[in-house]
Amino acid sequence: MPPIENLTKNPSLGLPNGPHDFNKENVENLVEKKRFGNYAVGYSSPIGGFIPKIIGRSDKDLQDKILNGIDVARKKGYDKFCFKYADSLKEGFERECLNYHTYQRQLDDKMHPSQPEGHDIKCPDVICAKFFKSGKINRP
Ligand SMILES: [Zn+2]
Repeated sequence: MPPIENLTKNPSLGLPNGPHDFNKENVENLVEKKRFGNYAVGYSSPIGGFIPKIIGRSDKDLQDKILNGIDVARKKGYDKFCFKYADSLKEGFERECLNYHTYQRQLDDKMHPSQPEGHDIKCPDVICAKFFKSGKINRP
């Protein structure tokens, strides 16, 4: 049993589709192909609630991205996932940033989300935005 970490009162952290049981069938059936958006993977706590451990997004194919990480995540005992499609790359990036800053301390990957390729969009977090250097992208 993984340790109890920060529980989110909002069971799906702005990702209203879920939490679903995390398995290949569910991802294939519930997440449409060729959509972009955000997801979180984690586990359900014995006292209720969803505990996110992995947060991510895809700017190309959300289903693909979630399936790619399924073996590693299942080995760690993560058994739930939730997701939301994004209407724009900006929306997806900003949602990932906000989730990252909210749950940073309990996430497996502490790296700040990267900007969509070729787009200079700033992190919406007010404190982070001061330090988030734009221009990391090498423009052609
Ligand atoms: Zn940030």
